[in-house]
Parts: sequence; structure tokens; C-alpha cells
Amino acid sequence: MTNYIDLHTHSTASDGIYSPTELLRRAKEIGLRVLALTDHDTTGGLNEAIAAANALDIDLIPGIEINTDVAGGEVHVLGYYPEYKRPEFQAVLKVLRDARERRGQRMVELLNEHGVTISWERVREIARGAVGRPHVAKALLEAGYVQTIGEAFDKYIGTNCFAYVPRYRLTPEDAVRLIASANGLPVMAHPLDLPGLAELRNWLPDLVDAGMVGLETYYGPYKPEDERALRALADEYGLIPTGGTDFHGPGIHPTPLGGRPVPYEAVERLKAAAQRRGKTPPSFELPPPVQEK
Ligand code: AMP
Ligand code: ZN
Ligand code: FE
Ligand code: FE
Repeated sequence: MTNYIDLHTHSTASDGIYSPTELLRRAKEIGLRVLALTDHDTTGGLNEAIAAANALDIDLIPGIEINTDVAGGEVHVLGYYPEYKRPEFQAVLKVLRDARERRGQRMVELLNEHGVTISWERVREIARGAVGRPHVAKALLEAGYVQTIGEAFDKYIGTNCFAYVPRYRLTPEDAVRLIASANGLPVMAHPLDLPGLAELRNWLPDLVDAGMVGLETYYGPYKPEDERALRALADEYGLIPTGGTDFHGPGIHPTPLGGRPVPYEAVERLKAAAQRRGKTPPSFELPPPVQEK
């Protein structure tokens, strides 16, 4: 296994630090040959990434990452090779991003009501693209309310904190169906974060029924024994074992860009699955939003 593939990265289109062009430039610098850009709830970075990748002779796999909520936390679903220009797909993503705007504003209001005075304008500026809690955290850091991003989550915007507001609530199955509706290949991201190895087996049948085709196995900090267990599950369910670093920029996630060896088999199998898909994907209807606080 060599380090020339990274199938999980973020850019300024969501909460990464580097623009798609800058990300690709860095990928080239360290010798990556295949890179997937998987921004949260947006494909806004993909056109730029594809242009930069073409110029640098890197194989850019278009992707996305959809965050979903379950009891006890979040489950993320990656989607590879979505036909992202489909208008129905973009319409759903826009609803999710618009909800992120309102939710971001609401979190700032709650902070302000508690005397924590950061401004929505600053959060918006920091975010550039799809706004998320990491941007609120950065504004809190800048304003001196916390010393680290992690502290912002612990004190203010973590799931159990006073300024936490839920996102548009999707289940993991919803996210799988949403990606499938754009003919994309849904893959469960970092499955050990949640549901965890013990629960995973109980979850897989429903997710596979919904259209999931892969399991992120070679993920940033996962240990060799975790990797082996995930690989065995992927094989048992016929899922494609993918992998990557979840790179957002230095110091945000522990693994540097390209710092996680991923077998080329993952790329080959994703490409083969993308070749096999039909012309008309199943349609998707967004479930109604939950009450916002
Ligand atoms: P959002 O989708 O806006 O709720 O933001 C979720 C993102 O925040 C995740 O994708 C992580 O990148 C980041 N995140 C969540 N919890 C933490 C934490 N404790 N420390 C740092 N980043 C976090
Ligand atoms: Zn992120
Ligand atoms: Fe994630
Ligand atoms: Fe990610």
C-alpha cells in the first residue's frame, strides 16, 4: 500500500482551510495521484478542483459528505461520483445549506444572549462556503473566548451545550438515498466514531438496503486491528473498503493530507461501480425539518 491516494478531504467550500486549487497544489507537492474532495453538504468546490486536478494531472474523484444525526451523535455519509449537476440534487443541498445559515445565526444569537459576543457577520466571513460549527468555533477562538477549537465544542457548541442548535435532521438512510438519487456511491464515513464496531453489524443491513456500497476502512487514526475488523465486515457485506485522512488543513484532524495509505483497489472498485450504474437514479424526497430551538 502506498500513500498516493486520499479519498476524504475538505476545502473552503465547506470547513477546510485551503481552496480547492490550493488543496490540489499541496496534493501534487506530496505526490498524490488520486484525490477525492468531499465537502460537507456542498459540491461548490468541485468545478474548481476538477480544473486544478486536470492542470496537475491528478485523478480528482468528485465527492460530498453528508452529516446525519442519530441518538448520541452524528453519522457521516460520503458520496463518490455523484452526478452533482443534477438540479434536483442541488435543490436538496441548497435546502440543507440554507438551514445551516439559519442554524448558524441562531447559535450566534444564543451565544450573544449569554454574553458571548461574537457576530454572525464574522462567522459568515470565516465560513465563505457552507457554514458549520467549526466556523463558529473559529470566531470564538478569535474573540478570545476559548484557547482551542476543541474547547469551543466542549464549552459552547457541542451537542450538549447551551448554544448548540441541531442541523436539518437527516438519518443515515436519508443521506444514503440522497446520494443514490444523484447516482453517487454512498459510503459510511469513519464508522468507528459512530455507530462503533459493536453496533455496526446491526446497522449495515438497512444501510445496504438503502443503497450504501462502501465502508470507510482506512481512516486517518484507525488502528491496524480496527482496520482489519472493518475490512472483514466490508467483505462480508460486499462493501467497497475506502479510506482517507479527512484533511481540513493543518492541526484540525490528526492526519496530514495523504497521510493514510489506501489500497488502489478502493479506487478501482469505486470506478467500476460508477461504470455499472444506471441512467435513471431513484428519486429522493427530503423529510420534513424538525422544530428549531
Ligand atoms: P456541523 O456539521 O456544523 O454540526 O459541524 C460538525 C463538524 O464539526 C464535524 O464535521 C467536525 O469536523 C467538527 N467537530 C465536531 N465536534 C468537534 C470537536 N469536539 N472538536 C473539533 N471539531 C469538531
Ligand atoms: Zn469538516
Ligand atoms: Fe466526517
Ligand atoms: Fe470529513
